[in-house]
Amino acid sequence: MKKLNCNEVVDNLSCYVDGDGAADLRAGLESHILRCGRCRAILESTRQTLQILHDCEPFPVPLQVSARLYSRLQEVLYSK
Ligand SMILES: [Zn+2]
Repeated sequence: MKKLNCNEVVDNLSCYVDGDGAADLRAGLESHILRCGRCRAILESTRQTLQILHDCEPFPVPLQVSARLYSRLQEVLYSK
């Protein structure tokens, strides 16, 4: 199984949250997230954000919302 670092996990978080992507990638994401508190926190906040958006809107999350969310996450990660 491929070992991922934190940046790769964040880059591929949308695959994980959306339930798509290769099985190998998803397994790599899952094992990293289990071991890494920081990525787990990012995953949880991403899921909560998507859930809130989902509860308010009976539509799929607009692409630009996801894009903004992920660029904000990347800002947080890369500014450290
Ligand atoms: Zn991590």
